[in-house]
Amino acid sequence: MIATKEALKIILTNVRPLKAVRNPLDEVLGCCLAEDIRADRNLPPTDRSAMDGYAVRAKDLAESPRELRLVGEVAAGSAKCPKVTAGTCVRILTGASVPGGANAVVKLEETTERDGFVKFNAITKVGANIRIQGEEVTKGRVVLCKGTVLSPARIGLCASVGKVAIKVYERPGVTVLCTGRELRDPGVKVGPHQLRNSNGPALLAGLQNAGISRIGHQIVLDDPRMIAKKLKAAASKYNVIILTGGVSVGKYDFVPEAVKQIGATVRFHGVAMKPGKPQLYATLTRNRHIFALPGNPLSALTGFGELVLPAIRRLSGFDAESCHVTLKLPLSRSVRSKANRTAFVLGKLIWGRKGLQVDPIKSCGSADLVSGAQADGVVLVPKNIRKIAAGELVEFTPWRPIP
Ligand code: AMP
Ligand code: MG
Repeated sequence: MIATKEALKIILTNVRPLKAVRNPLDEVLGCCLAEDIRADRNLPPTDRSAMDGYAVRAKDLAESPRELRLVGEVAAGSAKCPKVTAGTCVRILTGASVPGGANAVVKLEETTERDGFVKFNAITKVGANIRIQGEEVTKGRVVLCKGTVLSPARIGLCASVGKVAIKVYERPGVTVLCTGRELRDPGVKVGPHQLRNSNGPALLAGLQNAGISRIGHQIVLDDPRMIAKKLKAAASKYNVIILTGGVSVGKYDFVPEAVKQIGATVRFHGVAMKPGKPQLYATLTRNRHIFALPGNPLSALTGFGELVLPAIRRLSGFDAESCHVTLKLPLSRSVRSKANRTAFVLGKLIWGRKGLQVDPIKSCGSADLVSGAQADGVVLVPKNIRKIAAGELVEFTPWRPIP
């Protein structure tokens, strides 16, 4: 059995980013940039007013109060360029280009306008309320580097430097095969000996959280030939195949055999983690990957968060270092572990007077999705650590995007 960190390392050395594609701005949220984005012009493009008010020569307002003659107006979007000369001012609106001759803008609130004259009640300084041409960035400079994950603000910035479409890494297609003779889809009649397939919907939701849209899902019987057949078919369509169930050493655990049968190379089988020990990872040629997770719902979700999601991020172009997202947070209460492997304990985020903390949740074991549903993620308890005290910082893997 290998350590969780070792398993992650093996995955990240086998996974490479997919090819770059050019996509329109309304399809790139959460994608990873595959090119540098440069400013196509200075930002701001001209000296701009940051306020509604009057453009003036600061020299004219060295004393207060003073009156200046109003000689024109310039609004945002206006190409007019009135001149400010000694003793005069121009009405200006937020975002308008500062007229020639002016070197300061006085806020409307500090003035009174009457009969073509404006009274200024305070002195002003050169540059006041002016956003200087190119102060944010000058033409040609990189504003976003290749590898950046696109957020709403970054997509806005792409638009403001004139981009309609940008090069991003393609995101993988992923399919989920849930193995188990006992499984029934929700909505179908279940006998007392049967179980509803919760892993399928939970993992599909996890993939949606990661921005994956090309997703498949089906239930497969515990039959080695059938599993191999479904695996083969899935491998021709998807970059990543996630299996759940049938990966341990039980009589009906046929997944490892089926994985080998289709010619995949098993990179590891067994990780020293709790829950989720029997995890298997295998690779096919052409950057295709198979993850077999144990069937219990919390084992499957933990394996997904710790090992599958990092692979999906790497395929999507994330830097290897930012593929496994964790937060360092204080514990609200102490947590205990009896495991001689890395333990992942359910945790709920709580916002209190002490700021953000993680509250450990007790569960009845790895099948207990009722407790799992309370959790926002898992707390890592290192191997052979029996107790972590309240207030100590722990590593927390979120199971959903943190607001
Ligand atoms: P296995 O890993 O196949 O030995 O399954 C371990 C436990 O997880 C068994 O109790 C299974 O019935 C249960 N299980 C397997 N697959 C699923 C699934 N898709 N949804 C919910 N529970 C499952
Ligand atoms: Mg099974």
